Amino acid sequence: MNVFFDVQGTLVCGGTPRPHAREVFAELAGAGHDVYLWSSAGTGYASSAAELLGVEDLVFGCYSKFAPPPVTVDYAVDDHPNLVDRYGGYTITPFDGDPEDRELWKVAERLK
Ligand SMILES: [Mg+2]
Repeated sequence: MNVFFDVQGTLVCGGTPRPHAREVFAELAGAGHDVYLWSSAGTGYASSAAELLGVEDLVFGCYSKFAPPPVTVDYAVDDHPNLVDRYGGYTITPFDGDPEDRELWKVAERLK
């Protein structure tokens, strides 16, 4: 599936990357999924988040939420339910900067 992750609140809090993004993305890739990032702050912001998270090599593309992406959105992971309601997926607990946060693993659990 094409799995689309929101950036702010889902993968980062301010400039702090959410723990375990790289391991979880690698797990998703191993299960045959293609991971994408998208953001209402635009493509450039999503790309810089991929760099911050150290996952550039595990991400198939970075997009704005305001234009339809060139591939099907099969599963959305977002801290707000609107896109999850629209595409299906998982509404994740917002990241508040906690270094012990393990919420991203719930996505891997659901998609294995
Ligand atoms: Mg968000």
